[in-house]
Amino acid sequence: MTQRDPRYDILFESVRIGPVTSRNRFYQTPHAIGMGPHQHDEMVAFRRTRAEGGWGVVCAEETMIHPTSGHDPLPVQRLWSDSDIARMAPMAAAVHEFGALAGVELTHTGSSGAAWEQRGYPLSSTAGSPRLQFNPITTRAMDKRDIAHFRRWYVDAAVRARKADFDIVYVYCAHDLSLLQDFLTSRTNKRTDDYGGSFANRLRLLREVLSDVKDAVGDRCAVALRLAVEERRWQSSLNSREDGRRVVEELADVPDLWDVNVSDWQWDSGSSRFFEEGHQEPFVDFVKKVTSRPVVGVGRFTSPDAMVSQIRRGILDFIGAARPSIADPFLPRKIDEGRHDEIRECIGCNVCAAEVMNYTRIRCTQNPSAGEEHRMRWHPERVPAAVNADRSVLVIGGGPAGLEAALTLGKRGYRVSLVDAGREWGGRLARERRLPRLSAWGRVVDHRVGLLQCMANVEMYLDSRLEADDVVDMAADHVIVATGGTWRRDGTGRSHDEPLPGADAVQVFSPDDLMDGRRLGGRVVVYDDDHYYMACALAEKLAREGCHVTLVTTATAPAPWSFNTLESGHVVRALFEVGVEIVVDTVIDAIGASRVQVHERLTGKPRELAADAVVLVTCQSADDALYRALLARQEAGEPRSLDRTGDCIAPAFIAQAVRDGHRVALDYEAPFADWSATLTGSR
Ligand code: ADP
Ligand code: SF4
Repeated sequence: MTQRDPRYDILFESVRIGPVTSRNRFYQTPHAIGMGPHQHDEMVAFRRTRAEGGWGVVCAEETMIHPTSGHDPLPVQRLWSDSDIARMAPMAAAVHEFGALAGVELTHTGSSGAAWEQRGYPLSSTAGSPRLQFNPITTRAMDKRDIAHFRRWYVDAAVRARKADFDIVYVYCAHDLSLLQDFLTSRTNKRTDDYGGSFANRLRLLREVLSDVKDAVGDRCAVALRLAVEERRWQSSLNSREDGRRVVEELADVPDLWDVNVSDWQWDSGSSRFFEEGHQEPFVDFVKKVTSRPVVGVGRFTSPDAMVSQIRRGILDFIGAARPSIADPFLPRKIDEGRHDEIRECIGCNVCAAEVMNYTRIRCTQNPSAGEEHRMRWHPERVPAAVNADRSVLVIGGGPAGLEAALTLGKRGYRVSLVDAGREWGGRLARERRLPRLSAWGRVVDHRVGLLQCMANVEMYLDSRLEADDVVDMAADHVIVATGGTWRRDGTGRSHDEPLPGADAVQVFSPDDLMDGRRLGGRVVVYDDDHYYMACALAEKLAREGCHVTLVTTATAPAPWSFNTLESGHVVRALFEVGVEIVVDTVIDAIGASRVQVHERLTGKPRELAADAVVLVTCQSADDALYRALLARQEAGEPRSLDRTGDCIAPAFIAQAVRDGHRVALDYEAPFADWSATLTGSR
């Protein structure tokens, strides 16, 4: 094993947090994983893997203190009754098994949750419209008795957390998702009693809860305060920055740990399209100057040098991570073992957030095992060994699916040949990474190619388009086709069952044309019936190249799926900044010379838009001709064994292709039922 680079020693210093001590400075901050009380085995397996990977602290996600709190239907954890202790305790035990501290983020969601499942009334400092929800309800302003109850719920939940053997108990006041933040913020708190009005009054409840929790469990558990030190909003919020600093000044040494970030989630978990690594530093850098307690902060840190810099410059004591720990649970161990080149760096795509926003189990573009640790028994680092290591596997296509398949088969020990028709690795990503703001996505390619190039049992060939005859001639024991997909040129998609009239005209282009280098000029209509990033990325590219761009979308807002990735607000601003005109809820009926005919979806009203060129971003189709040809050849005996993966089955987002590449590589000679036996060493 290689040695740790001494430059990174500082990251492995132990740090005291109140009554407990972390073995190092790697801190997996609380983050949602879309696993609720009914998936606790999955939740435990997810967190255990991070502890195994070397994180000093591993936290559970927001954990409700009372039935009036929740983000239904998002599955989250709870400690609202004694019966929840037995369910949460295995997580703390699993984390302890590997020497990490276990934290739990005790939460009351207040008016950010609808209390929908419990059929109650959302609690708030102030009666009014609840935020983050469209339900036809209003919040209930808490009276003094409610406040007393709330304080008791926090204490009861903290005591349960201690009984479940958690080491760090959180008081949560962040992301605009917390009743305590609702009381703290003048934007939401309109009370006139001693819990509202002045800063001291708005701070009162947070101060009381912190003190209550410390009194209740502070002898054995560290009490952390997670605070949004700044509310970043499109409309500026009065005093938020000043208030954030004053909270830290007022409560400086009250919590045992400050976990600081910016609010709300789209600003905290900023995607790489709009935020750099370490982007929160200007907002949190004052905290350590004010408190003597340790400080944890996040910023999509994947570079050990950036981490060391945060510590040495006195910005943070702990390197907080949600996404970097999702993408690479073994990040700390890789740095510790001098394998930092092997870190599976988060690409900042926020597909992990999208799964949570869709109320489902977390997934990750870079790490196919995320969320599959229990259900599929997938491990981020270990894969089942080859059953017959002398067997050869040919993988055709070096996009995300083919690269992941080849890497996993290589790790398993097979003799792998990876072949691609293109001049560089990456498939769709070889071109997409050159679109505006998408360069970090190229890490999906670079990580895998870097590892594959070091594997003695893997051979890689570019510039080699294979036909069925070539494949048969190569006589591999197993063939995996990963030939990807192509954007449709005829406009069919969500809104069009039949080809669009005029789609075959010379001035109509597909995303593939533009990514292949085709330059356009004049007035360009980019038509989005796909609803994720492609249309907006192309619109921005064209506008930067000098075109007058109109984005016509069939949705009611640009790139609506980007709402799930916390990007929709940023996407609209980016388009606005480069002068893209946005036309929503509109369908193209026909494309003619110098114009397109459209109608507004809501009213049916027709109109025409000027267009020298039209780019159709509607749907992709699978490039499965080679697979079908090989299937036909199989009847004659070759190839002996055949499978396919990724976009060549059905084009989807990149996370799907990576996951399927992993799946297809594990499927070979090891059907699902056998994997767990292999992983546990019984095979
Ligand atoms: P996925 O997302 O499923 O990995 P991509 O479209 O990103 O799919 O990648 C598919 C890759 O397959 C592309 O790089 C393409 O050049 C390659 N490819 C397609 N057909 C062939 C073929 N017949 N021979 C070799 N490579 C091919
Ligand atoms: Fe990072 Fe994307 Fe994985 Fe989330 S899904 S952890 S943003 S690579």
